[in-house]
Amino acid sequence: MKEYLNVHLVDNPLAQATLTTLRDKNTDRENFRGSLSLLGKLTGIEITRTMDYTELEVETPTGARSKGVSLTDAHSIVVINVLRAAMPFVEGLIEILPYARLGVVSAKRVEEGVASPNYRFKIEMPYIRVPELHRQDTLIIADPMLASGSTLLAVLDKLIRGDLPKRVISTSVVSAPLGIERINARYPSVEIFTAAVDVGLNEHGYIVPGLGDAGDRVCG
Ligand code: URA
Repeated sequence: MKEYLNVHLVDNPLAQATLTTLRDKNTDRENFRGSLSLLGKLTGIEITRTMDYTELEVETPTGARSKGVSLTDAHSIVVINVLRAAMPFVEGLIEILPYARLGVVSAKRVEEGVASPNYRFKIEMPYIRVPELHRQDTLIIADPMLASGSTLLAVLDKLIRGDLPKRVISTSVVSAPLGIERINARYPSVEIFTAAVDVGLNEHGYIVPGLGDAGDRVCG
């Protein structure tokens, strides 16, 4: 795989087996939703591997003391659910990050066709409801498909004002090189957690090999 800035591949075997189920066109809606939710959990676990922690000591029921850790940022997480396909993915993420505050963005591409490195599709965002962001927050944007990057750029442009939160993370199941390159170019500090970087986009803007229209496969 080409080296990209800040791309963290969720490549443990269970995540890759779950991705295979999602890619399979014969996977039905129930299994598709379940697999997307499981991949949300596995992505959440990968994120926790990179979170700050503090060391502490607790007393166990035996009366002995044990060294341990506390995830310092667990209470400063905001997860953004980019409708529609992210719904089961977010369900999985927040099982691992249960204290996360939640935001919702409804985003829709207005035009058809293929994006090029210098062209951004116009994105309509008729509904945005996001908790107030603080400097110490980790902002996690969940959209299973990072294709041309136009939606993610529109969401970032809307949410990021002045000072960035402490961390901004994009989580997807599958990403296309064009989307990654555009995010890297405009927001070089945004971290991208994804289970796969695919070959590219077809003439309809779908990721290839991809997993099809994730929103339709989730919602029917
Ligand atoms: N959105 C999808 O649902 N699938 C793609 O391949 C690209 C964008």
